[in-house]
Amino acid sequence: MFESLQDGLSSAFKSLRGQGKLSESNMRDGLKLVERSLLEADVSFEVARHFMRNVTEKAIGEKVLKSLNPQQQVVGIVYEELKELMGPVDHSLHLKNKKDVTVLMMCGLQGAGKTTTCGKLGKLLKDGQRNPMLVAADLQRPAAIDQLHVLGEQLGIPVYSDRQEKDPVKVCNDAVKAAKKQGADVVILDTAGRLHIDDELMKQLERIDKQCHPEQIYLTVDAMTGQDAVNSAKAFNEALEIDGVIITKLDGDARGGAALSVKHVTGVPIKFMGTGEKLDALEQFHPERMAQRILGQGDILSLFETAQKEFDQEQMREQEEKLKKGEFTLDDFRKQMAMIAKPGLMQKMMGMMPGMGAMRDAMSSFDESELKGLFGIIDSMTPAEKANTKLIDQSRRRRIAAGAGCEPHQVNELIKQYDAMAQVMTKMVGGSMRDRMKMLNE
Ligand code: GDP
Repeated sequence: MFESLQDGLSSAFKSLRGQGKLSESNMRDGLKLVERSLLEADVSFEVARHFMRNVTEKAIGEKVLKSLNPQQQVVGIVYEELKELMGPVDHSLHLKNKKDVTVLMMCGLQGAGKTTTCGKLGKLLKDGQRNPMLVAADLQRPAAIDQLHVLGEQLGIPVYSDRQEKDPVKVCNDAVKAAKKQGADVVILDTAGRLHIDDELMKQLERIDKQCHPEQIYLTVDAMTGQDAVNSAKAFNEALEIDGVIITKLDGDARGGAALSVKHVTGVPIKFMGTGEKLDALEQFHPERMAQRILGQGDILSLFETAQKEFDQEQMREQEEKLKKGEFTLDDFRKQMAMIAKPGLMQKMMGMMPGMGAMRDAMSSFDESELKGLFGIIDSMTPAEKANTKLIDQSRRRRIAAGAGCEPHQVNELIKQYDAMAQVMTKMVGGSMRDRMKMLNE
C-alpha cells in the first residue's frame, strides 16, 4: 500500500535535497512535486489542495527557509500534515459492559468486504474475551446468509438468521433478544448491500438505526475503488452518521488515495483496515504509522535525528552513561514508568518520533491502578533485590508478594517486564542510530 506515493514523495524530497541552499522559489518547485505525487496516488483534488495549502504555509515561512536544514523540516511538515489529515482516531468499539448487549451495525456497498469484516470484527471480539453474535440482516442476497453461517462456523461464533422473515429490522430486533437469552454481549449486524447507493437501502438502514440503537455504525469501503470509496462514505454518512470507516483491501491498493481522503471529505476517521482475505487480517488504523509508511525509512531516519536534538542533551548523556555501564536497575525502571504515567508526557514525546507509535500505544493502555500495583511490588523489595533481581528466588518472591498484596506470579511478571525493558534500553545505547531505528520499528 502507498507504494506510488512513497516513490513520488521520495523523489520530491530528493529534488529538494539536491538544491543546496533553498530559496522560496525552489521550495515551491519541490512542493509542486509533492502535490503531483498526491494526485497521482488518487488523492482527491480538494484534499490535495487543502493539504498543500497547509504544507506550503509552514514550509515557505522564514523559520524553515533560514533554518539549518530546511529539507529535513519539510519532511517533518509533510509527516505532521499526513497525520493530521487521517486522524485523530478513537479506536474504541464503545462496548457496554458484558451484562448488556452492544449493537454494532455494519454497512457498505456490495463487494466492499462487509460480511468478511463482520467475521473479522467477531474474531477480534472473541479474542478479547467477548461473546459476539453475527446477525444476517442482508435479506437481499440469500447467499449472504449462507456466507455468514460459514464464517460463524469457522470462527466458532453463533450466527442469528431467519430465512422466513422479510423485514430486516425485525431480524435485527429479534437477534438482540436472542443474544440476551443466549448470553451474547455484542451483536454485529451484517446489513444489506447494493451495487449502488439507493434511497430504499438508505431508508432500510435508517430504520435499523432508529429501532436497534446501534452503539456504533461502521461503513466498509473498498480501497481499490479509490475516489468511489470516498464518495460512498460521504453519501452513507449524510444519511446515517457513521462512527467510523473500515477500509478494506488495502493490501491490494498501491495508491492509497482513499485512505488519505476519507477523513477530510467525510469528517469520519478510518478506524480499522482490512489487509487480507484471512479472518485475522484486520488492524487498527493508525494515522501516524501510515504517515511513517508513506515517508519510508530514509526520510524518517533524518526526522528522528532532528527530533532527538530537541531533548535535553544533559539528561540524555547522563542516562546513556548509566546504561553504557549496563546499569538499569529496578529503581530506574520505576522512574521510567512513573515518567510515562504522567498524563500525556510520554505520548507527546513519542508522538514526535515516528516509530515510537507501537510503544506509545502499549503505554497508553497501562491504567493507573496497574501501575500502582507494579510500584507496590518494587517497593516491597530490599535494595539488594532491586539492584539484582537474580537474588529473588521462590521464597523471596512469596515474601515480596505478601508485602505488596499480590500473587507471586505477578512478581515474576514484573521482573520479566523489567528484564525486557532493560535489554531494549541497553541495546539502544550500544547500537548506532540506524540500529535503534530498526529496533523501534520491530
Ligand atoms: P460484501 O459483499 O461487502 O459482504 O463483501 P464480502 O465480505 O463478500 O467480500 C468481497 C470479497 O472481498 C471477498 O472475496 C473477500 O474475501 C474480499 N475481501 C474482503 N476484505 C478484504 C481485504 O481486506 N483484503 C483482501 N485482499 N480481500 C478482502
